[in-house]
Amino acid sequence: MIQARTRSPEDTKNLAANLAELAQPGDLLLLVGDLGAGKTTFAQGFASALGISEQVTSPTFTLAREYHGRLLLHHLDVFRLDQISEVLDLGLPELLDSEGVVLIEWGDAIRQALPNDCLEVALTFMEGQPSPPDERVVVLTPVGPRWQARSHELTTAVEKWLESPPC
Ligand code: ADP
Ligand code: MG
Repeated sequence: MIQARTRSPEDTKNLAANLAELAQPGDLLLLVGDLGAGKTTFAQGFASALGISEQVTSPTFTLAREYHGRLLLHHLDVFRLDQISEVLDLGLPELLDSEGVVLIEWGDAIRQALPNDCLEVALTFMEGQPSPPDERVVVLTPVGPRWQARSHELTTAVEKWLESPPC
């Protein structure tokens, strides 16, 4: 688990852009967090680092959108889905097999419908009152072999945002 902190939307985009440099075809990233935490903001920074010039918007009402860059990017938002069957209907296995990267915005506990091989990115508002409105805690958890193999690179990629930099 890697804990970082961002101080503005741009900061979150820059962090996401650094992570996008590590992305490989077939990767899955789960963006976890409440509404307004910064999941779509993260997706925007991630996409632009993949060379996607199209504006990435929240796919809340379309559920899934596809963007073409250095890698194909599938951007999904299942925040409002509460049925596992609805998540299964998204055809995730096919998306993951499509040589693209899958980013899923996420808000709930439908985790069991997803492969256990992903990078979980949890965005949370700062604890404590009063908290600066533009600060977010970003916790990265590599789950399964694909991302665990890159955990050193992950730490390096987010080094400047680490809560407690390594000695
Ligand atoms: P979500 O997709 O999680 O619902 P959005 O990315 O759509 O969230 O919205 C996040 C909102 O919070 C945006 O208005 C963004 O400008 C703002 N914001 C403020 N500080 C940050 C930060 N550090 N990281 C990301 N977004 C931030
Ligand atoms: Mg969103």
